[in-house]
Amino acid sequence: MAYSYEAPVSQSLFDRASVVTPGGVNSPVRAFRAVGGTPRFMVSGTGPYLTDADGREYVDLVCSWGPMILGHSHPEVIAAVQEAVSRGTSFGTPGEGEVALAEEIVARIEPVEQVRLVSSGTEATMSAIRLARGFTGRAKVVKFAGCYHGHVDALLAAAGSGVATFGLPDTPGVTGATAGDTVVLPYNDLDAVRAAFAAHPGEIACVITEASPGNMGVVPPVDGFNAGLKELCAADGALYISDEVMTGFRTSKAGWYGVDGVRPDLMTFGKVMGGGFPAAAFGGRGDVMAHLAPAGPVYQAGTLSGNPVATAAGLAQLRLLDDAAYAKIDAVSAELRSLVGDALTKEGVAHTVSAASNMFSVFFTDRPVRDYEDAKKQDVFRFTAFFHSMLEQGVYLPPSAFESWFVSTAHDERAVERIAAALPAAARAASEATA
Ligand code: PLP
Repeated sequence: MAYSYEAPVSQSLFDRASVVTPGGVNSPVRAFRAVGGTPRFMVSGTGPYLTDADGREYVDLVCSWGPMILGHSHPEVIAAVQEAVSRGTSFGTPGEGEVALAEEIVARIEPVEQVRLVSSGTEATMSAIRLARGFTGRAKVVKFAGCYHGHVDALLAAAGSGVATFGLPDTPGVTGATAGDTVVLPYNDLDAVRAAFAAHPGEIACVITEASPGNMGVVPPVDGFNAGLKELCAADGALYISDEVMTGFRTSKAGWYGVDGVRPDLMTFGKVMGGGFPAAAFGGRGDVMAHLAPAGPVYQAGTLSGNPVATAAGLAQLRLLDDAAYAKIDAVSAELRSLVGDALTKEGVAHTVSAASNMFSVFFTDRPVRDYEDAKKQDVFRFTAFFHSMLEQGVYLPPSAFESWFVSTAHDERAVERIAAALPAAARAASEATA
């Protein structure tokens, strides 16, 4: 596909990057391989806007894949970071900031009695499944196709997102022994979970699920699915782990738990709680968390865990996320969903706008999408055309049809108008696209 616009500075940075970094990027989906063209190298962000190295401004609907829920460079978050950094960047000792962030998380999310801070969502899920195995003395982990939990060896099977984008069936480097203890089931299928417990009674340490998946596009749990998981786990003595790295502090003040009220044994968090810095966490039942070192025998550690700058950013961001902030994000999301849907309908493009609270994505199919197999059946080539038209018109969408779109409190009327103005041409491009 040829593009009618160029990004010469980004292209030359990408050429340089490709010499010294595999594929030119530090996280695969950033390379634009699913959509083609030159990945944009960003130099700054303010509110709902990003500016690239060629000086072009975009309305940002990626928000750093979720963290920037207040928009870019929020003055109060920046001030908290500057204040923290002026006192030093890392001490390798306990500090008050990490206590305050842990208290904020525990206060917001009722099932979390204790929480351990880490530096990435991957670390959070990796540590949570280690803890589940250590607590139960069992080996097997159940996960769902299309759910991504970071690049943890045991969880990189049918993992959606970047893996979906690249169509890697299994990742080289993950041994059969590691993957052998992972049971992958179709999402939204409680009968499959029942059958797995029947086939492996007393062997399953935990079921881990995205609280509401956003890594195969947005595919919310059907009514009763999460509650059913919890029930089946409890009946067998396995732990129910809800991965809220993406939904946590985004889909409501208490994340997806605040939406469905199903009480997990363990939960994982990241993205929003770090305010744009590497901070993540896992937490839950006090008796389970008590198994973690140094209180208990399950080892887990981190040189930069609870970093004072990251915790200051996260805390500042969480404290700004009150009911009014969520009401605003929900309203912008609803407005955009209806604008996108109307534009595609007008051009006769088969589509489904799928939402979970304020997270949403567009599937280029009009068949219902309940799991990863359904998500893969969409017309991805139409998304590609849609994406490039939006990009050319200054709207930055996730460069993959299998990702959630994210909005922030900074997406104001002007930003929404710019998106609305770009949609008719993008919808036309999607309708004219050929496979
Ligand atoms: N879990 C979920 C649901 C995610 O969406 C992600 C990242 O997108 C992760 C875990 C991994 O987090 P990180 O990229 O911070 O390692």
